[in-house]
Amino acid sequence: MPDPSRTLQAVHERLVIAYGTPAPGWQPDPVSQLVLAILAIRTHDTVSLRAFAALARHVRGDWSVLEEADPDTLEGLIAPVTHAEKKARWLPRTVETIVRKRGALSLAFLRDWPVDAARAWLEALPGVGPKIANSVLGLSTLKRPVLVVDTHHHRIARRLRLVPETADLGKATDLLGHQIPHDWSARTMVDHHVLMKRHGQWFCHEAAPDCASCCLRSLCPHAGPAAGAQSAALAATGPAMVPRILGPTH
Ligand code: SF4
Repeated sequence: MPDPSRTLQAVHERLVIAYGTPAPGWQPDPVSQLVLAILAIRTHDTVSLRAFAALARHVRGDWSVLEEADPDTLEGLIAPVTHAEKKARWLPRTVETIVRKRGALSLAFLRDWPVDAARAWLEALPGVGPKIANSVLGLSTLKRPVLVVDTHHHRIARRLRLVPETADLGKATDLLGHQIPHDWSARTMVDHHVLMKRHGQWFCHEAAPDCASCCLRSLCPHAGPAAGAQSAALAATGPAMVPRILGPTH
């Protein structure tokens, strides 16, 4: 059986060749990242970022205002995001829980905690699962070495058989976390998250993956013989249709 760490490394290298190394993205403070991650659930990035900006303007940069905020007002501010009504009630509860547990609205203490303990603390907050917890740890100014696994990443990992088909997102996050090559930095893990997400958006679609044009197809059991035949046809007629993205990827 192939060493999963080597497969993960090979996947990463091919994605870097195809898309380029992602430009460094914005790293918010951890509470801002938590708010953004909640807004982003089942919502397109541009929509959730717009809602985040509207909310940040409303609280004037002080997220503790959310604790006492009127949910109907919040719902109006974040209306374009999916499940806005639910999220407008969820955000105040999350803020209230952090303040009650820690005495202040700050997650900076997680910088010094062991990663597993930090993730478990975050997952004890209302509605926070592995994706949100790891995004707070890995994508914020905390810069902890964790892999953020979103639905795109989860789907590709299952198709590549890096994790079992039956692994839910939490299980897949755990399994992929143990496959990370030892020399990957926190920055490489962020890059991998960005690249896998981009690959899921561009090629490995949920309904109809474009296996014939995929830079991972020779590593992927899901590609199947049809993709192999299409690949051979493409090889005979010209270079594989793998775009190289030169600009920032997030
Ligand atoms: S070969 Fe197909 S299923 Fe496999 S990663 Fe590429 S697009 Fe996804």
